[in-house]
Amino acid sequence: MATLAATATHTINAAGFLFVALTLVTVGYGLSCWLWPFGTCRRCKGSGKRRSPFGRSFALCRRCDGDGRCLRVGRRIINALREIHDKSS
Ligand SMILES: [Zn+2]
Repeated sequence: MATLAATATHTINAAGFLFVALTLVTVGYGLSCWLWPFGTCRRCKGSGKRRSPFGRSFALCRRCDGDGRCLRVGRRIINALREIHDKSS
């Protein structure tokens, strides 16, 4: 009987392991979005310029307003949650 109890506690549940792993990844991503909220703009690749197809002229990137950086998706979610929380209280 004692061996059954010991084996029952040491079996690794696949669903439980998956849940813990996904929770760790989500918390880690949220923490990294909290510490480093900006990412490189994907449209201009961080240059902030929108190149003209002719010559050397350029305009500012409309997506990042010439910054070359955009808020990451996780940080947008954090900001939206914070806004909901601030409105409710
Ligand atoms: Zn851009």
